[in-house]
Amino acid sequence: MNSIAGLDELLAEATAQLREAATNAESLEQWRIRYLGSHGEVKALMQQLKDLPPAEKPAFGKRINEIKQELTASFKKRKGELTTAGPAGKSAIDMTLPGTPVSIGHKHIITQTIEEIAEIFARMGFEVAYGPEVEDEWHIFDALNMPASHPARDPLDSFYITDSVILRSETSNVQIRVMESKPPPIRIISPGRVYRPDTVDATHSFMFHQIEGLYVDEGVSMADLKTHLDQFCKAYFGHGVATRFRPHFFPFTEPSAEVDISCHICAGDREDCPVCKGSGWIELGGCGMVDPNVLKAVNYDTEKYTGYAFGFGIERMVMRKYNIPDIRILFENDVRFLRQF
Ligand SMILES: [Zn+2]
Repeated sequence: MNSIAGLDELLAEATAQLREAATNAESLEQWRIRYLGSHGEVKALMQQLKDLPPAEKPAFGKRINEIKQELTASFKKRKGELTTAGPAGKSAIDMTLPGTPVSIGHKHIITQTIEEIAEIFARMGFEVAYGPEVEDEWHIFDALNMPASHPARDPLDSFYITDSVILRSETSNVQIRVMESKPPPIRIISPGRVYRPDTVDATHSFMFHQIEGLYVDEGVSMADLKTHLDQFCKAYFGHGVATRFRPHFFPFTEPSAEVDISCHICAGDREDCPVCKGSGWIELGGCGMVDPNVLKAVNYDTEKYTGYAFGFGIERMVMRKYNIPDIRILFENDVRFLRQF
């Protein structure tokens, strides 16, 4: 085998052997010794070089070096394949390795918050009640002391489906439906979606969630309202939180108030606080004693029964609690955000 053709034959044979016979670490090593070892076939050919006529030496020497390099490269490649594929040449599964974690979803922070609020009020004896999102005028306006002339019925403030069917702008319709269905005592909270024709920005959305509470019984007073809401705020926002009532007006409650909680970011110490703007207080929602006209609308005896009602925006509570600056983040379904809760 002292011609270039003989060299090419060796290359073809060694390459075929590598593919067919070198199927594990052991047979691969045997292959290496046979072709590339210090007494291997490539070496043997190199020793023939000195016996060749001078004219043939350069081409033969060059070719044998190329073959050596090519076989060395093929050997390394084959070794890599066998290491990845495992000892038997099959796909290697290491049963002792920990598995790949499967990421499972969880409830959205809004749902989690509704459940948390419901749980806090359940401890105070409140049940959860639901009602329709598409509602008639009676349940969303008339029965809630908002007669036909009331400004809150302006089409600019509510989505009208027909002249008398409305996409509800608050969850108060549930209060009316529950009171129509049974006599006092009533202790309910009603969470759900509400819709308003607002332009979307950092604090507004055309759809958001509200939670309302209603407590009607003999002798229910403003003191009950203030106590329950204070307890709720401490349970939800933390024990250090203080609450205050500011007089306000709502058509369905009299007297009415807005509820503020103390700023948990700065406690009123920072004039540039982004959350309370230095006032030390954050507006949470509205509340008040149920207007007797509302109780009359559902045929309750207003001489015997009194009640309170309140309503909070759930997004606002979540934004306050977790210091989220923009309501839109809550609806974008970006898992990098959602995963944090
Ligand atoms: Zn503040």
